Amino acid sequence: MDYHNQQTTTNLNSTGPVNPETGITPDDQMNIIVDPQLEQALFEIEHSSNQSLYELNNLFNEVDMKRKRREIPEYLTSKLCYDIMRDPVITPFGITYCRSCIEENLYKVSHLDPIANKPLVAEQLISNLVVKEIVEKFIKENEWVDAESF
Ligand SMILES: [Zn+2]
Repeated sequence: MDYHNQQTTTNLNSTGPVNPETGITPDDQMNIIVDPQLEQALFEIEHSSNQSLYELNNLFNEVDMKRKRREIPEYLTSKLCYDIMRDPVITPFGITYCRSCIEENLYKVSHLDPIANKPLVAEQLISNLVVKEIVEKFIKENEWVDAESF
């Protein structure tokens, strides 16, 4: 290599001449080559910061997706029709369905609570006022529920 034409680059700590193309002294070059541990550490830092950024972006995307998907919480949906329960009734076994679905099920399918698998008649169904109140509040706060066909 020819270092005769080097510019007046001041490098106080360096003993070797500066490579005019890279600005790296032979010493630096040695360090880069000799210190694979440092290189590995740098690589890992970069990798983990990229990873964090990636995860953060994913979280934001997930929130966006949820907003777009407009999900109804599972506890407000009927286990029979999976629609939001506008007229929820609770069975003696503590399970809540929409009134129309469970009544239809009792008449057409069997005289059983379909999840508890225990005898049930329509007269035992009690309006679940708490769920009804939550559903009404949810619909009021999420107007798209009524806008979309359920
Ligand atoms: Zn239903």
